[in-house]
Amino acid sequence: AKSVDDLARSEGTGPIDGTADLVAREEQVFGDNPLEVRESDHYTHEYVGGFVDKWDELIDWKKRYESEGSFFIDQLKARGVRSVLDVATGTGFHSVRLLEEGFEAVSADGSPQMLAKAFSNGLTYGGHILRVVHADWRWLNRDVHGEYDAIICLGNSFTHLFSERDRRKALAEFYAMLKHDGVLIIDQRNYDSILDTGFSSKHTYYYAGDDVSAEPDYIDDGLARFKYTFPDKSEFYLNMYPLRKNYMRRLMREVGFQRIDTYGDFQETYKESEPDFFIHVAEKN
Ligand code: SAM
Repeated sequence: AKSVDDLARSEGTGPIDGTADLVAREEQVFGDNPLEVRESDHYTHEYVGGFVDKWDELIDWKKRYESEGSFFIDQLKARGVRSVLDVATGTGFHSVRLLEEGFEAVSADGSPQMLAKAFSNGLTYGGHILRVVHADWRWLNRDVHGEYDAIICLGNSFTHLFSERDRRKALAEFYAMLKHDGVLIIDQRNYDSILDTGFSSKHTYYYAGDDVSAEPDYIDDGLARFKYTFPDKSEFYLNMYPLRKNYMRRLMREVGFQRIDTYGDFQETYKESEPDFFIHVAEKN
């Protein structure tokens, strides 16, 4: 039988240079000056073994399921969607949910460690065999084949792209892989409120009750560095680009999406008056 790693690499780009090294390494690497790390390629150094495992131990899928409700499933069903490409599979939460609901799903991600975890989670949660593909969004059409009724990019993933060129390229790749009447669903953290209220009034976000907290560690117009603290006091970081809501809407419109509805959201357990997340539902036609 194939190992999980083999399966995670059985389609798509396969191991990129240095991947074997990354798989073995448990620690995040940000170098001497973490605030200078503003690159779209860096995500593979951030989602490493220790972080991936800890994240998934603590983000209780049942609680996440309850807090998210059926928003995404309802959006997809209302449009008669059957086939879905999950481009930011991560540890597989949404891919598994889609399979449970009877959608045909393909699960892509640029991190082999995430795909390996997603594959084993699929087996654990319901005995699903995930169709995993190792692919970076910027070259999606090279590695994933077919056309889909819907593409989902959830869990504040698009924020990992640091240049406008990369964002446009990724959106163009998503657009090209949708059927003529397809829909793209992308969510993002509400960075407008973080940027506008300033670093001083930083707010701590709690995931799955009080287990994991996420707080901005550094913010400027080009970088949102978040610190994740776990109950055993271990800390991990993610460097992200602080996408403004209307900028994101404009990019999708310019790439060709005809109608974009943006919803304010739920998901976090801690809330102030403003939503923590925005969800964009973009229709191709
Ligand atoms: N959707 C999942 C969830 O909500 O739990 C995972 C979200 S995780 C925050 C972001 C995911 O996006 C990671 O698994 C990462 O590897 C992936 N990712 C980031 N940039 C990418 C890129 N350029 N191409 C493909 N995957 C990428």
